[in-house]
Amino acid sequence: MTPVNAKRQAAMFATEADGPYAGIVLNRPVDQVFSYRVPKSMQGRLKVGARVRVPLGRGNTPAVGYCVTIGVDPEDGVEPDRVKDILEVMDDPPLIDAPMLELTRWMGSYYACSWGQALDAVVPAGVKKAAGTLMRTFLIVPEETKLARETLQLPPKQAEALAVLCRSNELLTLDDACRLARCAPGPITALKQKGLLHTVKRRTDKPLVDRVKDEPEAVRAPLDLTDEQRVVLDTMAPALDGDGFAAFLLHGVTGSGKTEVYLSAIERVVARGREAIVLVPEISLTPQTIRRFKRRFPKIAVLHSHLSDVERHRHWRAIAAGEVQVVVGARSAVFAPARNLGLIVIDEEHESTFKQESIPRYHARDVAIVRAQKLGVPVLLGSATPAMESWRNAESGRYTKLTLSKRVAERPMPEVGLIDLRNEKPERGHALGGLSAPLRLAMREALDDRGQVMLLLNRRGFHTFILCPKCGYIVKCDACDVALTHHKGRKRAMCHTCDAERDPPEFCPSCRTGLHYGGVGTERLEREVRAAFPDAVVRRMDSDTMRSPGSHEQVLKAFKNGEVNILLGTQMIAKGLDFPDVTLVGVVNADTSLHLPDFRAAERTFQLVAQVAGRTGRGDRPGKVLVQTFCPDEPAILRAREHDYLGFVRHELERRREHRLPPFGRIVRLIARGPNESEVRRFLDGLASILKSLAPDGVVLLGPSPAPVMKIKNLFRYHLRLQAPTARPLQEMLHQILPTVVLPGEVELAVDVDPVSLL
Ligand code: ADP
Ligand code: ZN
Repeated sequence: MTPVNAKRQAAMFATEADGPYAGIVLNRPVDQVFSYRVPKSMQGRLKVGARVRVPLGRGNTPAVGYCVTIGVDPEDGVEPDRVKDILEVMDDPPLIDAPMLELTRWMGSYYACSWGQALDAVVPAGVKKAAGTLMRTFLIVPEETKLARETLQLPPKQAEALAVLCRSNELLTLDDACRLARCAPGPITALKQKGLLHTVKRRTDKPLVDRVKDEPEAVRAPLDLTDEQRVVLDTMAPALDGDGFAAFLLHGVTGSGKTEVYLSAIERVVARGREAIVLVPEISLTPQTIRRFKRRFPKIAVLHSHLSDVERHRHWRAIAAGEVQVVVGARSAVFAPARNLGLIVIDEEHESTFKQESIPRYHARDVAIVRAQKLGVPVLLGSATPAMESWRNAESGRYTKLTLSKRVAERPMPEVGLIDLRNEKPERGHALGGLSAPLRLAMREALDDRGQVMLLLNRRGFHTFILCPKCGYIVKCDACDVALTHHKGRKRAMCHTCDAERDPPEFCPSCRTGLHYGGVGTERLEREVRAAFPDAVVRRMDSDTMRSPGSHEQVLKAFKNGEVNILLGTQMIAKGLDFPDVTLVGVVNADTSLHLPDFRAAERTFQLVAQVAGRTGRGDRPGKVLVQTFCPDEPAILRAREHDYLGFVRHELERRREHRLPPFGRIVRLIARGPNESEVRRFLDGLASILKSLAPDGVVLLGPSPAPVMKIKNLFRYHLRLQAPTARPLQEMLHQILPTVVLPGEVELAVDVDPVSLL
């Protein structure tokens, strides 16, 4: 095993020369390309992008790696006889094509992980284990046997079996042949022993038994575009027609027809024989969205999280074979192996779920931009509330800004009212619940008018905290620095971070006072709503009630059909849904995200209110939104009330500029964790002082300090932040430091470039 010189590696990569030496990367945190010898039997068969099995280390433990180069020489300074042989070529044809190799190399260097780790993340598990296929042994009749057949003196059963094998147009297995020749395996084995038959191993699909076939959707013609939509498409036309890389940011209020723009743009690309990838947040991979795409594109692959390994593998192969026009999926669909890509669309581009929170910690939006750049194709980012980063890129001219300022069909934006919770008093004899008097009244009116109501509350469970009224003790998870939530239906106190649960305690463990259960989660809200509106059909949608596959779809369908009057839930209900009869949306607590110790708290709050507000007034009737808050003067909430994204952006960007936060600076966050708190802290202190001594002008180091969530699953967490006006000095520091870091004991270090969460 020997590292490969980087320049040389690039040269080999470009020529894809055939040769006896291969560069292999491994799915380990070691950023090196290792040289191996390609045995004669594998030369020509091993291709760049294939997985291989190689012997590793002194013990020659077999490990799986990816072949990234093939060259004629061993590496500079490497003794040819010290290079080990590759043991096995695992893929033929290779899984990864050349552009994907380049993209993953960029990911490794940008996100500070190894090339092998990046590569391993782009191939789904089902593809790696070739789910749904079988290695089977087939019988082959060699030409010599066929020619000599007349003259062979064979026992009748063997003669009959051979005749069957000669007649068959397909390859037969031993079982097939026995069945067709109506014999036991004996005669065929005898033929093999006489050398009259050969065998060969091939991978084949397992027969499909349990695959539910989707009903095909009747393909519908596109709508006549509105004037605004037309302008948007005209602007994109040259790029869609093959003019090269371009990034567009489509800012369109909810209901302005963004999805229709995506569909038309994709149509244009598909008409040229190209493929499109559409990324959506997992949560909006709803049947409603999927149906809309299926109606326009018959050859579509939808990659959602409920796919089995087998289905995922089949989709992947269909995409790689060019049998798919449009791929719709969540974050990882950005790696879909489309070979003839013409467009990448990212819907709700501001969503934090596009960031992966495990290695490689990539952001699908940024990976999409780089993939498109390398391929010379356009990217279309769409949102009603674009991320500050994207907005800034559009203002600086890196992206082209496109606008849909109005809802389709002159529908007005809903009126948004604020309810100041500081003025709300509980009714006599009642605890203050989730619904204020004005919200309850508005719900009554909406229901009386035969309208539907949606209520958003971003906290699941019944009570959201358990507290000692005397000493202030808060019941927390044993393993995490997180307050437990009371789930009354299940009679459990649960940790939403590690899923640990226990019996709900009655008394304070430190002073034996009776504990107070407080706060409103969706479970408690449901009970309150049912009690207040006994005549209404109420459904709750959160990850507790939506455990079984299909339940999500079922509830949404019932709501759409008007069988449900009130739908309440977590952000699951906030995204991308289109229900024309919703006339009232209530935000039960707009402050849940406002006070998080994260500089994006205001942005998230604005986005959330704007998104739910977008769920109403989508039909012929106007809609109304009521937002309950303790902070009615917060700019995020005030601006959301006015549907004033631009006003919010102006204010928020000013604040970010002042503090040099993204998009006016870059952040790298280093998180250390381990079971021994002082060890973690000592390690990060040491790392911080090295970083400080290296930091060039303009790089600021913040911390180390305990992370806001200081303990998760019994691991203590400390973090530090590096900030700089651009990414480059940070990247350089990481590349210099990370290879030299020695982790003590059980300490782990996570490097998060462009972090989305700071908790
Ligand atoms: P967004 O994605 O911005 O929320 P949609 O594309 O879902 O907006 O459009 C909102 C509604 O308007 C949908 O019901 C859609 O079918 C309809 N719509 C969009 N474009 C047009 C159009 N050009 N003509 C008529 N209806 C349209
Ligand atoms: Zn926990």
